[in-house]
Amino acid sequence: MGSQSYAIIGMGRFGASVAQALYSMGYDVMVMDENEERIQDHINIATHAVQADSTDEQALREVGIRNFDVVVVAIGADIQASILTTLILKELGVKMIVAKAQNERHGQVLYKVGADRVVFPERDMGLRVAHNLISPNVLDF
Ligand code: ATP
Repeated sequence: MGSQSYAIIGMGRFGASVAQALYSMGYDVMVMDENEERIQDHINIATHAVQADSTDEQALREVGIRNFDVVVVAIGADIQASILTTLILKELGVKMIVAKAQNERHGQVLYKVGADRVVFPERDMGLRVAHNLISPNVLDF
């Protein structure tokens, strides 16, 4: 069992993939989604699965969000919810916030409201594939 604990907010394809990978490596993973069905679908890839709206500060306090070593904000389409969630996490004192951005502007705002790291899954993966194509011997970029 890894010692780090992770909370993943938003069980879209990206969030679910991050959660599953961490959980299968033995880490403590809490997943959160406002959608009950999404929670039911991902209940077995996490230590705890919580149905809650992450823009609700009280809900985040109740799950003890600041005790997690890393919180990943994997909400994409609802940019407002992604930004507000990141802001609240910062205010609650979360040590490490990783947030997914839809585009450059969204990424800039996420940094401004307190994200420690911003990822652009499509852009980052495109870059990785391109590097892999030009040097296929490099297995991981
Ligand atoms: P992917 O490309 O990874 O599938 P996506 O951008 O299509 O992601 P979204 O639909 O934006 O994914 O959202 C991912 C998940 O985040 C959804 O399951 C949605 O229910 C959840 N979500 C959105 N807003 C909130 C919120 N305020 N609180 C909790 N969960 C939320």
